[in-house]
Amino acid sequence: MRIGHGYDVHRLVPGRKLILGGVDIPYERGLLGHSDADVLTHAVMDALLGAAGKEDIGHLFPDKDPKYAGADSIGLLKEVAALLHKEFWVEYIDCTLLAQAPKLAPYREQMQENISAALGLKANRVNIKATTEEGLGFTGTGEGIAAHAVVLLKEVEPRHKYRSGEDSY
Ligand code: MG
Repeated sequence: MRIGHGYDVHRLVPGRKLILGGVDIPYERGLLGHSDADVLTHAVMDALLGAAGKEDIGHLFPDKDPKYAGADSIGLLKEVAALLHKEFWVEYIDCTLLAQAPKLAPYREQMQENISAALGLKANRVNIKATTEEGLGFTGTGEGIAAHAVVLLKEVEPRHKYRSGEDSY
């Protein structure tokens, strides 16, 4: 087994969409970034890459590269999945979003479905929770949203190296 942790932050600003876990969430502000700024999906990618011992998303998808301007982060997550699938199976992913507002519970299931589908997993292998920070710090004042993700990867046994990365349990 390999464990990985990912962490990301984006600033909340007017005039941008709020995309979390691939869900377009109605809100008066959205996250600022070169891509769609999906802070949750970015944390998941970094956790996966960390567990795999690979370089982070800043190296894989540089924010100076015009190719990634406005990029759909769920699409980038599929690229990360393709990078790992011969070497690792995803055992489980657990995430925490830190946001004072909006309420994220109504979007939890759809976020779990989007992330698990991008990785070819059953939805019960991805868990997403959200918490406020009691008005404290930059998430508490609504300046930004942060996300943590931890993942467990299982190394693919050599005799299975050429099986597909689909969830085969
Ligand atoms: Mg990011």
